[in-house]
Amino acid sequence: MKILVATNDSDKLILFNSALKKLGHHELVSVTNSYDAIYKSRLEKPDLVILDISIEEKNSPESAKHIREIYLGDWIPILFIVNFEAETIKKIIAAGGDDYLLNPLDETIVLAKLKFMLNLYELRLKNEENMRKFGVLSAMDSLTGVQNRTEFDKSITAKINDARSQDAKFAVLSLDIDHFKMINDNLGHHIGDLLLKSVATRIKKCLGMDDFIARIGSDEFSIILGEIDHPEAAEKVAQKIINGLMTPHNLANEEVHMTCSIGIACYPVDGENPKTLMQNAEIAMSHAKELGRNNYQLFAQELYEKRKNTVNLEEALKFAVDREELFLTYQPIYDLQTHHVVGMEALLSWQHPSLGLISPNIFIPIAEENGLIDSIGKWTFRSAFAQGAKWYLAGYHQFKLAINISPRHLLQKNLPALFTEIIIKTQVPPHILEFELTENASITSSQAENVLADIHLLGIGLSLDDFGTGYSSYIRLKQLPINTIKIDKVFIDNLTSNTKDAMIVKSMITLGKNLGIDVIAEGIETAKQAEILIEYGCPKGQGFYLSKPLSVAQMTEILQQQHNTKKS
Ligand code: C2E
Ligand code: MG
Ligand code: MG
Repeated sequence: MKILVATNDSDKLILFNSALKKLGHHELVSVTNSYDAIYKSRLEKPDLVILDISIEEKNSPESAKHIREIYLGDWIPILFIVNFEAETIKKIIAAGGDDYLLNPLDETIVLAKLKFMLNLYELRLKNEENMRKFGVLSAMDSLTGVQNRTEFDKSITAKINDARSQDAKFAVLSLDIDHFKMINDNLGHHIGDLLLKSVATRIKKCLGMDDFIARIGSDEFSIILGEIDHPEAAEKVAQKIINGLMTPHNLANEEVHMTCSIGIACYPVDGENPKTLMQNAEIAMSHAKELGRNNYQLFAQELYEKRKNTVNLEEALKFAVDREELFLTYQPIYDLQTHHVVGMEALLSWQHPSLGLISPNIFIPIAEENGLIDSIGKWTFRSAFAQGAKWYLAGYHQFKLAINISPRHLLQKNLPALFTEIIIKTQVPPHILEFELTENASITSSQAENVLADIHLLGIGLSLDDFGTGYSSYIRLKQLPINTIKIDKVFIDNLTSNTKDAMIVKSMITLGKNLGIDVIAEGIETAKQAEILIEYGCPKGQGFYLSKPLSVAQMTEILQQQHNTKKS
């Protein structure tokens, strides 16, 4: 049995070590905090997790939930070490803890509890074996009919034994469907399930007699390519699979388009045991995702180090809201003709305890991919609405507050209800608010359009961010109730040097005027750029030349100054 202990108290580790020795041959993996516990759980898949939340304040009961997610519904016993406090004990029960040990640890009690957990574990193994024997627990994934994870573990172990004895090579592929969550949310779980079946069938068509395929996560497949002498041979199969999956899938009268990302690890160079091989194939797959998805990548050692950092970031992000590590800055938006501040954009930042300031360009994509964007968004909306209300109630009425919104938010039906609740609570007048939408395919789904229409009805404005860089900007103007377009920085960058860019900017300004839509030029960095924009009649601007994003206090000061000059 493998036991993971998260504590930064070395005395406790010594105690666990000696207790486990008394109980037979068991493996102890130790980490010092709950971030690492989650990370290690993913890598090592322990059979028992012990979390010490009594010392390190940052170790939260919530980590139990994240660890459980890793086990995809399989039970994993989690034990907490706590001080005797009824509140904490209630919290760990709510977070799904199975039992607890009280400080100070007593060796007899620790031994008894560990023994109990070991017995449970053995009982469970026996039970599973019996179920398998009687055919209750299938070796197959019930949805797609390919092998499941347990069976795949056996296949890969057997494959390694064969290859080792024959000095042979083979490859492991890790395949993940791109944006599967989005497909599921957009088209429904029924279509999601049909797509998984279709994917499994198509992959099988690309495989040979010596190959295996298994579904090992919700939209993750693992493949063993049996006879591979060179990585190039594996690359060929990967490309064949990618091409095969790209042809639209006809599912219950829906034509579904999808792509996938694949990582390749080769035995023995990229790993000599099942765990390392699968982990490295997954790392290569994540790299393929970073490179824009819809491609395959071979594993390389330097990817391992890089991956470690991202995983840590992802785990840390899970706690960022609770630990109040997120904060908003406000970048002023100016009327270019009068040079008055007429609004501001709320920009999210993350102050990581050890890595320092992390840009939204790094953490928002991670949050969008793993779903954390929902809670991060809620926090952002609450904070920004509340700040807008404060400024308004302080007597500053001449501003619009812009807030960025992720396309994923628009897939939540209850979003307008949430906004209504925050508006009532904060007393913010909805007309001072404007949501900035970046162009993205998903904002045309009917679900997203309904949410946008509801937001419009609430009186909140809509702005198209990074205008001109999406692939169908003009269609959006026609389809959605847009109040403002923000000309992307890439056009402003070359305003003074490239006549084509200058003409594009000029026509965007005219377009806005003709449609009765407000125009903001983004990313103004020089006086010259501002000058040209003024000459073209661009109404508003934002950029480092005018002002960098500011703290609440600095922003308030500007509003105050402007308010005073107007009065006098
Ligand atoms: P964006 O909405 O286009 O925001 C403008 C970004 O450009 C900000 O970067 C801002 O600091 C930067 N910027 C402004 N003026 C200049 C300039 O003159 N020169 C240069 N080089 N940069 C300038 P930031 O804060 O790093 O945000 C990056 C992106 O992250 C935003 O782009 C937005 O797409 C996203 N983002 C920021 N906050 C949020 C949020 O609360 N929710 C969501 N979903 N996305 C957010
Ligand atoms: Mg923006
Ligand atoms: Mg922008």
